[in-house]
Amino acid sequence: MRALLVNPWITDFKCHDFWIKPFGLLKIANLLKSGGFEIDFIDCMNRFDSEMPDEYKKEKEFGKGEFYFEEIKKPEFYKKLTRKYKRYGLPYDTFLKKIESIKKPDIILVTSNMTYTYEGTFEAIKILKEKFLLTPLILGGIYATLCFKHAEEKSGADMVWPGNINNKFIQLVNKVTGSKIEQQFKENFFLGLLPDYTVYFDRNGNYNIPYAVTKWTDGCPFSCTYCAIKLFTNEFNRREKKDILIELDNYKKYNIKNIAFYDDALLYRTVFIKDLLREIIKNNYGFNFHTPNGLHCAYIDEEMAVLLKKAGFVDLRISLESSDYNLQKITGGKVTNEIFKNAVNNLKKAGFKSKDIGVYILAGLPGQTFEMVLKDIEFVKRIGIKIKIANYSPIPGTTDFLKLKPEIMAELKAEPLKQNEFYFLTINNDYTWEQNEEIKKMITEYNNNIND
Ligand code: SF4
Repeated sequence: MRALLVNPWITDFKCHDFWIKPFGLLKIANLLKSGGFEIDFIDCMNRFDSEMPDEYKKEKEFGKGEFYFEEIKKPEFYKKLTRKYKRYGLPYDTFLKKIESIKKPDIILVTSNMTYTYEGTFEAIKILKEKFLLTPLILGGIYATLCFKHAEEKSGADMVWPGNINNKFIQLVNKVTGSKIEQQFKENFFLGLLPDYTVYFDRNGNYNIPYAVTKWTDGCPFSCTYCAIKLFTNEFNRREKKDILIELDNYKKYNIKNIAFYDDALLYRTVFIKDLLREIIKNNYGFNFHTPNGLHCAYIDEEMAVLLKKAGFVDLRISLESSDYNLQKITGGKVTNEIFKNAVNNLKKAGFKSKDIGVYILAGLPGQTFEMVLKDIEFVKRIGIKIKIANYSPIPGTTDFLKLKPEIMAELKAEPLKQNEFYFLTINNDYTWEQNEEIKKMITEYNNNIND
């Protein structure tokens, strides 16, 4: 039996390879292999694909880099955005060629990215259905979960799977393919499955990507009003230590140097994490660890900071979002300025330099003005670490979404492309596109001057 797994293109105004890998799809590859499937795996977002133009394989720091892209037609409502609208990832013709060369699968599984990047997903599905009309195609991933109805009506997939995979998902695969994958897993088996990175191996059995991604926990104990995490899971769970160490041993075997975490609350179970970090230090893996999702400051005590440094965490990202007391409180209270300052002190004492720590500031939240963002910047400047601006994307189902005007809510709900952070800047009177450009310029100048 054969399965075709596809990570489709991302269509957006910007997209950098900031360690992008379809972690869930890699776990599904493992699951299907265990059920006897042969796997064809197409990752449109793999810069290191043998058929990707060579200039896009160039590495920036820690394996990051730029994606190949093709400019595509903007939907009418994006017209006021002056940026080019692009399909990032594999050249279109290369994807077609790959599909042509693939043996007919018994099932196709396509994942999806952010809600407002669904056009790339739809394009891939259209091509797949044209070639393999009778093969059942299941769409999963972030967009499929957050915009289930939209995906059911418009994606062209035969079935849409919201949320994590579970025993019901296995039943579905068994039903549509006639396979007999065992439902031997407990409730949280998704955490127990290892990602199968061998799908990226070249002909010589080498893994030629300078990084991998990992996830040790699932969920988050907080409920920030702007965040969509609770729409995926209400629980917080962590993986078994032995599974994590097997995964890390594999990365060592594949000569991977950089590992990026996809966790939302990596440090929450501090005893568990500290124990793992000690094990990593003892095993002397030599990895560079990255935290693109931002770490919770509240858990960075002196001991944690030292362990993070010794274990190989570099270019650390931590979360503040706002320095405004009221905004911190009404959005969920995950951090205060004191907690943030304490975390930065501990990190610096442990040996992290100012240029090694980047703090996320959210810009454009409902009720957050340009002046408030300026204050946040001034506050972080006094602490002296790098600033990373994250623009707010309005996601239906979150508490902050309900703070929008009813007509805007309806508009964004009906068309997920309008949930794009850049589009939102064009309709947000409290924090506009022009103000955002000003802030970005200011921050670039500031960050470039941090050298110690
Ligand atoms: S702490 Fe982070 S992951 Fe958790 S709810 Fe808040 S923003 Fe989301």
